[in-house]
Amino acid sequence: MSDSVLVIGGGVCGIQAALDLGDKGLKVKMVEREPSIGGRMALLDKVFPTNDCSICILAPKMITCFNHPNVEVLTCAEVVGVKGKAGDFKVKVRKKARYVDEDKCTGCDACTQACVLAGRIPDEWNQNFGTRGASYIPFMQAVPRVAIIDGEKCLRLTKGKCKSPCLEACLRNAIDFEQEDEVVDLEVGSIIVATGLDMYDPTPVTEYGYGRFANVIHSMEYERLINASGPTGGHITRRSDGERPKRIAYIQCVGARDVRSGHPYCCSVCCMYATKDAMLAYMHHDDTENYIFYTDLRAFGRGFDEYIKRGADEYKINYIRARPGEITEDPVTKNLFVWYDDTEGGGVKSMEVDMVVLSTAFVPPRGIEELAAVLGVELDEYDFFKASDDLLAPMDSCVPGIYIAGACTRPMDVTDAVTQGGGAADRAAQAIAQCGGKPPAKAGAGDRR
Ligand SMILES: Cc1cc2nc3c(=O)[nH]c(=O)nc-3n(C[C@H](O)[C@H](O)[C@H](O)COP(=O)(O)OP(=O)(O)OC[C@H]3O[C@@H](n4cnc5c(N)ncnc54)[C@H](O)[C@@H]3O)c2cc1C
Ligand code: SF4
Ligand code: SF4
Repeated sequence: MSDSVLVIGGGVCGIQAALDLGDKGLKVKMVEREPSIGGRMALLDKVFPTNDCSICILAPKMITCFNHPNVEVLTCAEVVGVKGKAGDFKVKVRKKARYVDEDKCTGCDACTQACVLAGRIPDEWNQNFGTRGASYIPFMQAVPRVAIIDGEKCLRLTKGKCKSPCLEACLRNAIDFEQEDEVVDLEVGSIIVATGLDMYDPTPVTEYGYGRFANVIHSMEYERLINASGPTGGHITRRSDGERPKRIAYIQCVGARDVRSGHPYCCSVCCMYATKDAMLAYMHHDDTENYIFYTDLRAFGRGFDEYIKRGADEYKINYIRARPGEITEDPVTKNLFVWYDDTEGGGVKSMEVDMVVLSTAFVPPRGIEELAAVLGVELDEYDFFKASDDLLAPMDSCVPGIYIAGACTRPMDVTDAVTQGGGAADRAAQAIAQCGGKPPAKAGAGDRR
């Protein structure tokens, strides 16, 4: 019998679950496959419906979670085996080598600057708009703020050919090329799965020209471009010429509500974040013209309709009810023409813009099928984790003691992900108590929320 809870995934949902459990006095092991916790929210600029700075509200939670006396965070780690039952799960975790000693590294950045490949590798954390070296820190507010050496790119690790100035630059002797992947065994009483979402790659929607036209980007790329700590310091620029776009079109439901893509469901968040994106463009420069091409405006949450209304009234966003059929490009200016059937005014029209942002579908995270097989839990028809009862037990998987929460169960916004994280924490604590473990204490003075 174990009193510990395993939380798989360190996004905002997993962080909330870990904090709630830790504050109840239960021990938590958090397994995050990336080098930093924070998930998708750590990379967003602002968040609807409040337009708060995303990392400003998340970073304190990331740090509190990482430093919580009852929470142990394993980064670069994935669950590869689970045996046993509620109250007594035996878990195998594979932790990939970072080639940097986490206890010694201070995150000073000296090795990242000294790396001979600095500035030569596309930076996936900035959606490949920026560059990094083989030694890098994923993003400014990463937790833990510890360097990692990319084992697939580092010249020493791949070819044995590098004078390794990184070693000399590190005054803490933190770099350790002898480090190897390791398997860690954990014993836990219950498990929370909070592995979040991925975004649909819009390349197959060929009519929109993503990948062919430089100035067609997707919403996650936009988030990094408009982010002050992103690759352009928060200046939205066109890929073709570095100029500021003055007319931006946002196309909703790309790969969503679309049987061709295999994602016929609504992503529930995109109408709202496209409005936020357009508001931000206007806040940066109030001569920006924003056009949102929507299928239906699904603003279902509290204050959401008012948010859309503010978008139209105060930020002069133009909402056009149409699903564009095609985008074409002017080969000289690289401007884009959005062709659409005007369902309100009538007739086929085209609009010339400087940039198009595709609001793409939320899809299950890569590797979800393998993880489901390891855990023995079921997936739904779209490959999100399936609840044992959508209405009455939305966070219970089909396996007693294993709970599912956040955007790995369906597309959802931050508020819902946090709510589910807290709910799953309660379910996981109850499962331990029912198996004869420690009863969950009420969150008290030590409550860090
Ligand atoms: C472009 C865009 C804009 C958005 N804007 C807003 C907004 O303005 N307001 C709002 O409320 N919401 C917004 N959202 C939605 C918001 O990002 C999500 O609601 C939120 O991130 C969900 O949190 P989560 O913890 O469930 O998932 P994630 O944030 O996806 O976190 C999941 C974590 O699990 C990790 N993980 C995945 N698989 C594994 C594995 N096998 N093992 C270990 N770890 C794993 C991931 O690396 C990640 O750290 C936006 C989303 C996008 C894409
Ligand atoms: S060994 Fe060379 S390539 Fe590898 S991290 Fe150090 S400087 Fe960069
Ligand atoms: S590994 Fe060394 S040089 Fe690199 S960030 Fe850490 S402490 Fe600084």
